[in-house]
This record gives sequence, structure tokens and C-alpha cells, in this order.
Amino acid sequence: MIAAVHALTGAAIGGRCRSRGQALLLGAISHLAADALPHRDLDIAREAVLLAGALGIIGLTRGAESREFAGAIGAALPDLENVVARVLNIPSSRLLLPTHSSYHGRETKGFRAQVALSLVCLGTLFFPRISCAGGRERGNSCR
Ligand SMILES: [Zn+2]
Repeated sequence: MIAAVHALTGAAIGGRCRSRGQALLLGAISHLAADALPHRDLDIAREAVLLAGALGIIGLTRGAESREFAGAIGAALPDLENVVARVLNIPSSRLLLPTHSSYHGRETKGFRAQVALSLVCLGTLFFPRISCAGGRERGNSCR
């Protein structure tokens, strides 16, 4: 999964968390689920540019001290393992995270699933009233 998509997913989850620590942890857990989905990865340079953009948008709109930013960092951080592996030429079979070594999602040619996931996350981040529609009626709290 593209690291920027991980960051957006973590930010969306982080916005629903009670603390930055919880956001960081759940963001990291979301990384495993997202990596298991069929997807296409990019080269390190493109991944870095997109991740910087995603973190920049989240940081500028929610703040670097926000739960959203903590969730984004937690979700993107596990991909440091991939960067280290590519730089040091370590085979994926020797990586620590199971979704990087053996349970990695099927490789796809397109980005449709990642674009769709990103749009849902952006909607959750920037249009929370829409994503919470009906939640209040059921007694769920929505910030
Ligand atoms: Zn990953």
C-alpha cells in the first residue's frame, strides 16, 4: 500500500481515537490490514513525495499535535522496514512484519482501491458530519 494512503487511513482512524497514543497504535494496526489488500506500490522517491504531501496536509489542517497526525505517523511508520530493506537489499522473506514478508496483498496494476480508500478517509477527515450521519440517531458520539 502506498505510504500516503496508509497515512490518510491512520489519520481518519486517529480522528476517532481518544488519545494520540491510541491513534498511534491503531494507526499501526491499520497498516497491517491495508497491506493485506490488493494494491500497487511505488518506488521510494514517489512514495516519499506522496507521504510528505499527505503528512503536510494532515499537519497543516489538524496540527502536528493532533490525534489525526499521530494516527498518520503510526500508520506510515511500519513502511520504514520496506525502505531499509530496499536500501540494504534485504529480501522480503526476511522482513519482520507479516504483511511485508508473507501476507502482502496481491499486486495490482491500477490504483483504484487505493484512490477509493483515500477518498473515504479524506471524506471522514474533512466532512465528518456526512460520515457521522445517522450516528447521532443511534446514540453514537461523533466529533
Ligand atoms: Zn507496509
